Amino acid sequence: MIKLKKEIEEIIKNLGDISKSVEDKNVLVTGGAGFLGSWICEVLVEQGAKVICLDNLVSGLNSNISAMMDKDNFKFIQHDVTQPIFFDEQIEVVMHLASRASPFEFEKYPIQILKANTLGIWVALGIAKKHEAKFLYTSTSEIYGDAKEIPTTEEYRGNVNPVGPRSCYDEAKRCGESYVIAYKLQHGMDTRIARIFNTYGPRMRAEGVYGRVVPRFIEQALSNKPITIFGDGSQTRSFCYVTDQVEGLLKLAFSERAKGEVVNIGSDNEITILELAKLVNELTNSSSEMEFHPLPKDDPMRRKPDISKAKEILSWKPKVELKDGLLKLINWFKEKESGKLGK
Ligand code: UDP
Repeated sequence: MIKLKKEIEEIIKNLGDISKSVEDKNVLVTGGAGFLGSWICEVLVEQGAKVICLDNLVSGLNSNISAMMDKDNFKFIQHDVTQPIFFDEQIEVVMHLASRASPFEFEKYPIQILKANTLGIWVALGIAKKHEAKFLYTSTSEIYGDAKEIPTTEEYRGNVNPVGPRSCYDEAKRCGESYVIAYKLQHGMDTRIARIFNTYGPRMRAEGVYGRVVPRFIEQALSNKPITIFGDGSQTRSFCYVTDQVEGLLKLAFSERAKGEVVNIGSDNEITILELAKLVNELTNSSSEMEFHPLPKDDPMRRKPDISKAKEILSWKPKVELKDGLLKLINWFKEKESGKLGK
């Protein structure tokens, strides 16, 4: 059985000294019921922070936070962060994660995505400014677009189509970064920007508009359905297991050395989508066939971060091998299917 509690303990162990600076801090997490948001809330709650989780729950993610609901140091507020909200208690850290992030959602909910990363970040920055709080923004590798510099450093300025199907996400996140820099310049705020590369792990969904490639392939392989490869599968991604990602994000949010920085957080282990499909098939002992579909417009051909900066300033690097992480997620999906999911 894959115990998420054990994974949370592992993250806390790897956070080392950072754990001490988290204890008793009042932390606001927007999008706190989402995939990464809920992992972050859970680690913070375990470490003794006082967590306020804000989420509009439009994606129906209540189950991600249900186990925290009865904790004294966890407060959930159902609220859309694009609308103003005021807090009586002092807030010391704001982490802005609220946003849909799946390419299928770019087509269906482009306006919500734009609002979460423009109006939403404006509200979140306003809260941080009023409370003189540290601010972490979860930006994305998508701000680089179809990058021509591989591995991609934080200096690379991007190759983005402003009117393409991914524009609502790419340009909104670029605008979000610009907001952060504006508040840092004009108000001298303590800000940090994470550029998150492809991440996978328990609590990701395979179905409908939420499905990203890893959970989709696992779900397809486990049910011996065809594995849907977009294009010829020669496009690449570099997949980071969720515990590594969450450790990186928390180190970036809390470490003194990270003040004002923009940092890539992800794995630099690049793999083609076809290789990923074959690996998932092998690890699940599946008899699924490969089924080729047209490549979506503007789908980036290669994605691999340069993570030297994260290694240097955060003393962080991803530790979970792709094969091991996939096996964990495969087990999690099997347990979910059989209704035996452990905490
Ligand atoms: N992909 C695929 N089959 C699927 C879903 C995705 O081949 O069923 C491809 C997609 O075209 C992209 C890569 O897998 O090249 C990663 O897709 P994902 O949706 O995880 O997000 P992205 O990295 O594009 O933001």
